[in-house]
Order: sequence, then structure tokens, then C-alpha cells
Amino acid sequence: MIKFLDLNKQYRSIKNEIDHVIADVIENSSFVAGPYLGQFEKAFAEFQKADFCVGVGNGTDAIEIALESLELPEQSEVIVPANSFIASSEAVTRSNLKVVFCDCDPETYLLDIDDLKNRITDKTSAIVCVHLYGNPCPMDELLEISKQHDLKLIEDSAQAHGAEYKGQRIGAIGDIGTFSFYPGKNLGAYGDGGAIVTNSKELADRCRMIANHGRVDKYIHEFEGRNSRLDGLQAAILNVKLQSLDSWIEKRNNVAKAYLAGLSDIKGLVCPDVKRDNRHAFHLFVVQTDRRDELRKFLGDLGIQTGVHYPISLTELPAYAYLKSDSSPKVASRMSNTLLSLPIGEHLDDEDIVSVVRSVQTFFRS
Ligand SMILES: *Cc1c(COP(=O)(O)O)cnc(C)c1O
Repeated sequence: MIKFLDLNKQYRSIKNEIDHVIADVIENSSFVAGPYLGQFEKAFAEFQKADFCVGVGNGTDAIEIALESLELPEQSEVIVPANSFIASSEAVTRSNLKVVFCDCDPETYLLDIDDLKNRITDKTSAIVCVHLYGNPCPMDELLEISKQHDLKLIEDSAQAHGAEYKGQRIGAIGDIGTFSFYPGKNLGAYGDGGAIVTNSKELADRCRMIANHGRVDKYIHEFEGRNSRLDGLQAAILNVKLQSLDSWIEKRNNVAKAYLAGLSDIKGLVCPDVKRDNRHAFHLFVVQTDRRDELRKFLGDLGIQTGVHYPISLTELPAYAYLKSDSSPKVASRMSNTLLSLPIGEHLDDEDIVSVVRSVQTFFRS
């Protein structure tokens, strides 16, 4: 069996340290706030090369809180790529803003710059770009568009911890960036967790207050906020895992390299486009083929687990039926039928990698 994700194997590799810090948090009752949270926020800001980091409850809240901190005009329009997880757009609607979907680029699967430009109106106030699968968005273009149209730029980096755009870690390239520590992400907690990074002290302070009841002191609340905090246990676990994250990302890149070497020349299969200037975090290794369902079954029968990210583009979801129109993104909905995520992660050994490559090659020979 070649697993898509193996959190148990990862745990066993760091069990001693993890067990130790969990016991320590409980021993010290550092459940909310406390030293582990401060330590993690500092370490994660450093890791992402951002000035500030605020831990929050999960990656969806992170986007909502980031949007709220930007104080965008109510019901103004926020552009979100149609190929993403629903959190990217849900956070927009939940924040009293209007979501506008833009299409994605068939080669990078990321938001399509030309289509995005076409969807900007005088009501547009922000862009949520998604570094999908761990692949950095074209930030130069996005920064230029944002500047030109006076838009805020939020980086949904839930899948891209440690990814780099032209040598710069993503997250704080735009105004503000958000992360998820959902267990299956490249940096995953043992429950829900999230974070916001930014180089703006003002935004960081505001996010921290929003996430903690608008609080300035225990019972002094400057405004109504909410409760969305990264708890001490998760922070302690993330501190341990953060030590290994760069090496795990390297391992993911090595798997990707082997896949690209073995699969790039196959007719009928499109491999991800890797820009040499960037560091891809390879949260997912996503190929495209018209024979997606057939290939998925073939690999499944051989014990190779795969995934589909995402089987339905956001515009096609019942939740967004109200937005559907003739100008709805077409590429994203077409691609949702051809995308297939091959197993990738530090849990794979050389034999697994060879086996995946050989199996895909065999499928396309038949
Ligand atoms: C996982 C994910 C989120 C949401 O994170 P949660 O921690 O599950 O709330 C947001 N955006 C993208 C692109 C994601 O993959």
C-alpha cells in the first residue's frame, strides 16, 4: 500500500519530542496563550521571513480575520480563483464581502492573470490569491495589479508553508498572508490551527485583537472581536514539527523531481509546471489527464492512493449556484475533470516513488 498521507509514520519519527511537549503543556496548564504560543509565533514569522505572526484557530478563520483587519468597504468585491478549497471564498462571503471568481491558468493551475484583470471593477477592493498545491502565485504581476487598482492582496498560503517566489518566502509579499495547520497540510497540527503573517505592525495588532475578543486587557474590549486562537498544545506540537519542515519540503521536491523525470514525456499526461526561480512546497503533486478516473482506479487497484483537488470547481458548487453566469470560469470547471493528485510526502521511500512512476508509465502504455 502506498499511502497518500501517513501522519502516523511522521509521528513515530518525532514521537519522543512530541510526547514530551504535550506532557509539558498539560503539566503547566498552558492551554490558551502561554509560552509555547509566543515561541511558535516568533519561530513561524522567522520561518516565513515575515515581521509578525499571529496564531489563530484555523486557516479559514485566518482568511476571515485578515480580511476584517483590512477594513474593506462592505459588499465590495474580492476576487478569488475558482480552483481552490471553499475556505478561500467562504471567508470572503462570511466577511460581508462579495466573492468574484476568476479562472485559472491551465498550465500552473493558479489564478489566470488576464482573466483576473477582466474581472476588476470599480467595486473591487481585494484579491485573495491562493498558492495552490504549494506553488507560488505570480506575485510581481499581482503586486502591480494591486497597486494600479488600489487593491489589497491577501495570500492564502494554506498549502504553501516555506514556498518561495523568486527567493522570497510567500505570505508577507502582499499585504497579509494566511496559513492553515490542518493535520494534512505540510505543517500540520494535531487538530485545527492557523496563522496570519504580515510585515505591518498595525495589521498584526488588529488581527490579534480581532481573534481575541477585541481585547486590550483581560476585561477591556475595544471592539467586538471573536474567539479564534491557536491553542498551547497545537503551538507546542507545531514548534517541534517546524524544525523538520524545511527538510520535509526538500523531500517533497525530491519526490517531485523523480516524478517529473519519469512522467514528463508521457503523451496524454500533463505534469505540473515548475518555475526555476521559485521554491515549490509540493503540498500536492497534481497531474492532468483526460483518463483521470481510469488512471485513478488503475493505481487504486495496485494499492496506490491518489486524491482529486478539487473534483468540483468552486463555481460549480451548489453553494455558488447563485453566482453562475455565462462568464463563469470555464478552464477551472474543465480542469476539475482531469486533475489527479499523486502521493507525495516525506513518508514515501525510494521504492514507493519508483513504483508510482512505473505504474503510471504502465497505464499509459496500455
Ligand atoms: C486547508 C485550506 C484552507 C482552510 O484551512 P482550515 O485550517 O482547514 O480552515 C484554506 N485555503 C486553502 C487553499 C486550503 O487548502
